[in-house]
Amino acid sequence: MSFRCRLCQQTFGDCWQAKDAKSGEMLGIVLCAGCGLVQQQSIPESLQLADYYSHHYRQDYKSTYAPRLKHVFRAGAAALTRLAFMARAGIPLGLRLLDVGAGGGEFCYLAGRAGYQASGIEPNLGYSAFAREQYAVGIVTTGVESLGKEQADVITLFHVLEHLPDPGQAISKLWEALRPGGFLVIEVPNLHQNDASPSNIYFKAHLFYFTRYSLLAAASRHFELLCMEDGGNLQIALRRRAEPLAEPLLPTPAQVEITRARLREKGWVEYLFAGRGLVKPLRRLERLWGEARLGRKAPRQLLDSLSLDDIQRRPHALRLALAGGVAIALDACT
Ligand SMILES: [Zn+2]
Repeated sequence: MSFRCRLCQQTFGDCWQAKDAKSGEMLGIVLCAGCGLVQQQSIPESLQLADYYSHHYRQDYKSTYAPRLKHVFRAGAAALTRLAFMARAGIPLGLRLLDVGAGGGEFCYLAGRAGYQASGIEPNLGYSAFAREQYAVGIVTTGVESLGKEQADVITLFHVLEHLPDPGQAISKLWEALRPGGFLVIEVPNLHQNDASPSNIYFKAHLFYFTRYSLLAAASRHFELLCMEDGGNLQIALRRRAEPLAEPLLPTPAQVEITRARLREKGWVEYLFAGRGLVKPLRRLERLWGEARLGRKAPRQLLDSLSLDDIQRRPHALRLALAGGVAIALDACT
C-alpha cells in the first residue's frame, strides 16, 4: 500500500502492524522518514469520519450516547488539570474561549466558572445535547469544518487532533478561527510516555501518534510555542502567528531518531517498572472506589464539588480557586 505523510509529503518510512487496543484488528502504522510523525498508513476520508463521530464514536468507545456520572467525574478532573496548565502558560482569563470537540461540556462549564467566556462545538448529538441540558453551556452540534473566521481568542482541542484526517489543514482552520494574537491549546496522547501499556497504544480512531517534536511541527506554520509539558499526555500552548510560514518547521533527523529509539524501548518491562504499570491495578481500585462514592449527584453539582487539590492529592498541587469564579495562579510555565 502506498504512503504519503500528511505533514511533510514524504513517501518513505518505517512500517509495521499494530493491534487496535479495542478490537484487536491489525492496523498499518508508519513512522515517516522525513518528519518522524507516526501515523496510520491508510487514512479514511473526511466524510466517512464525520458520520462516524456524529453517530457512532461515543457508543463504540463508551457504550453510551450520554456520559455517565463516572465519565463526568473523569472529564471534570481532566478539565481542572487543563485549566491549571493554561494558567501556567499565561493565557489570561476573560477571553472568548471555544472548546473544539467539547464532549459532554465539562471543560466548557468549568472554564466558564474559572473566568473564560466559554463555548464549544461537538459533533456527537447525544453528548452535545447533554452539555446544553445539564450545564446550560453554549455548545453547538457540529465539527471543525463549520468554524468561521476570527470568532475566538482561545481555542482548546483536547484529544481531538489525533482523530482528524489532516492535522495541518485542521490547524490552518483554527488559525483562521482565532483572532490576531490568539491562543491555541492542544492535548493529545504522548507517544514518548512510558505509562501506557504496550497493548493500549494504537487505536483505529487515532490516525496520528504525536511526540513533542511532531506536534510542534504540525502547528509550526501557523503558531509559535508558548509552553509544552509532556510528563504524561502531551500538552501544548501556542500563540497565533500574524501570518503563516510558507513551510512547516520540521523536526531534525536527530529528533526523528529519538522517536525511533523510544519506540524500540517501549515494551512490558519499561511499562511495568519505569511506567509504574505494576501499581496500576491499585490505582485503578482506588479510582473505582472513589467513583463508587459519587452517589446520586447531578452532573453539575458533581463538577461544582471538584477541586484540583483533591484530584492531585499532592502537597505541591497548584491551587485553582473556582469558588469565586477566579483562578489564582500558579507557577510560571517552564
Ligand atoms: Zn512526514
